[in-house]
Amino acid sequence: MDLRLNDKLVSAYHSGSQKARVLTETWIGDNLFCPRCGHDHIQHFANNKPAADFFCPVCNNQYELKSKQGSLGRKVADGAYDTLIRRITSYENPDFLFMSYSMETMRVTDLIMIPKYFFVPEIIEKRAPLPLTARRAGWVGCNIVIEQIPQQGRVVIVSGGIEEDRELVLERVSLSQRLSTENLHARGWLMDILKCVNSFPSGEFSLTDMYQFENYLFEKHPENNNIRPKIRQQLQLLRDKGVIEFLGKGRYRRAR
Ligand SMILES: [Zn+2]
Repeated sequence: MDLRLNDKLVSAYHSGSQKARVLTETWIGDNLFCPRCGHDHIQHFANNKPAADFFCPVCNNQYELKSKQGSLGRKVADGAYDTLIRRITSYENPDFLFMSYSMETMRVTDLIMIPKYFFVPEIIEKRAPLPLTARRAGWVGCNIVIEQIPQQGRVVIVSGGIEEDRELVLERVSLSQRLSTENLHARGWLMDILKCVNSFPSGEFSLTDMYQFENYLFEKHPENNNIRPKIRQQLQLLRDKGVIEFLGKGRYRRAR
């Protein structure tokens, strides 16, 4: 992977957003392998489909690119709020690629992939409607709050200008695949339990530790009056999927 952006491409463009689009999309097409199957490149859609930018010619998986100058930060701006929520709830999302780059060094600094099944409405933040003076007055955009996504759903490809090992990327995508669920309600529970599991710095915790989250989880899922059995059921599920190990006597350990 060559992390340099090709600045020769952009001299013909005047608008900053057009330049950014050409630079980043060309870079992806020239450099990125398919994080799903490992094929050596992914391809840009000839006619820009509204919901995806790239596809893999081997496994057909689709990707949408969001890029941003500077650091990736906590969140990345996306288009219309309603559109993204509709796509999530109808399971029409592609996998997302979030990329940041520096115009000073003309290099890619960060690139992460978020698999489609880590999208829940909760990570989509509504922006304030555009003011009446705006051309599209009342239009509501959104941000994707990356930091709300559990670490198992943030697959690092480039971090701080350094490329991650390709085999490790593929392994992490395949581990995340085990957490895929079509059902949004189940997905919401899984994301919340993962966040609790990820909050223990040492990676080891007990069932009693998990029960500390009972009120937090009840606030998020007020329809459920049996939070403790639900916690146990979800831990079982995470063990079956290889995300945590049971150490015995009510103790657990997070896998890498
Ligand atoms: Zn592929």
